[in-house]
Amino acid sequence: MRKVYLDYAATTPVRPEVVEAMRPYWSEKFGNASSIHSFGREARIAIEQSREKIASFLNAETEEIIFTGSITESDNLAILGLTGRFPEKMGQLITSEIEHHAVLDTFITLEKRGYQVSYLSVNQEGIVNLKALEKSLKKKTLLVSVMYANNEVGTIEPIEEIGEMISALNAKEKSWRVHFHTDAATVFEYLPLDVKKLKVDLLSLGPHKFGGPKGIGILYVKKDIDLSPLTFGGHQEFGLCPGTEAVPLIVGAAKAFELAAKEKEENKKRVSGLRDRLISGVLENISDVFLTGDAGKRLPGIASFSFRDVEGEAVLLRLDKEGIAASSGSACTSGELKSSHVLLAMGIPQEEAHGSIRFSLGRETTREDIDYVLEKLPKVIEDIRKMTPKL
Ligand SMILES: *Cc1c(COP(=O)(O)O)cnc(C)c1O
Repeated sequence: MRKVYLDYAATTPVRPEVVEAMRPYWSEKFGNASSIHSFGREARIAIEQSREKIASFLNAETEEIIFTGSITESDNLAILGLTGRFPEKMGQLITSEIEHHAVLDTFITLEKRGYQVSYLSVNQEGIVNLKALEKSLKKKTLLVSVMYANNEVGTIEPIEEIGEMISALNAKEKSWRVHFHTDAATVFEYLPLDVKKLKVDLLSLGPHKFGGPKGIGILYVKKDIDLSPLTFGGHQEFGLCPGTEAVPLIVGAAKAFELAAKEKEENKKRVSGLRDRLISGVLENISDVFLTGDAGKRLPGIASFSFRDVEGEAVLLRLDKEGIAASSGSACTSGELKSSHVLLAMGIPQEEAHGSIRFSLGRETTREDIDYVLEKLPKVIEDIRKMTPKL
């Protein structure tokens, strides 16, 4: 059976060049980078060269790059590490309603601990309300965290404008500093990512979303920012992420950055062409379906839809039988239907959010893959609609 993987936003296959780059670091170059003998020095050099390389792709300084265990950990370290420096719960915190749970749940936890958190609303396309942000910033704010692009519907957020707004405020009000964090997990393969241009203080991402290994995350921390660690032990990663470094994963991450940076323009063009083919094919051939997210300001790899009168998970299971891997914003856990917080925040009614399906395309997606989906999907939706009792 044909296999079509359209879940690149969940994770991507590790590229052969990345596997090759990592290979010696599992066995013959296995040293602990903290050891002073030649085995250790070899590992240390590999880590620092990787750090330097990744920094250059983000237009950051080498010492501003921290290796963590996942993107989730990077998000947590950014938010909890910063608030941890201000023990008196000083200043309000601002985030958006459509963040990944790695960010959202961290703020919810802080709120339970007594912090004041504002959650910015979004419009129907999933774009964060800048007017609300401007208004909210009038109160003393410690941290703003807004994602670069949404992983469920692909909407690209006005990050540069937010960075501009915050830095203008900081230039005016010298006695107080607003910090800016963005979760940029989904964008490196396609969009410009220059920490200075974006005027961010903290930025998280990870290589498994673009051909690199899992088990490693990256956090950019602007050099004048002092975070408080969440874990304690050794001196590794400037004391922010203590524990023996995952040398193979770090080397693999640097390779994934290098390849993705080199192919950015070409990838963006090719993948968005396939995405548009999928979007127009679905909208033309299936009734009662609409595109979720913004039509223009959209990640090249994301085609997300809401199908009326079907349940997302039922569609996923049927697609899986046809060899097609996609994902749904809704989850049917323990018999209870739970809709995506992102779609609900966009004002999509519960019953329509239930039928949401996300196809996320990537580097190895072909035109044949898309045509196969367009051949199978209409029948899958039709069959499920026939079986679903109308309410
Ligand atoms: C994938 C993703 C994460 C979490 O990544 P993990 O590898 O599971 O830690 C966080 N934010 C966004 C936007 C993502 O796409």
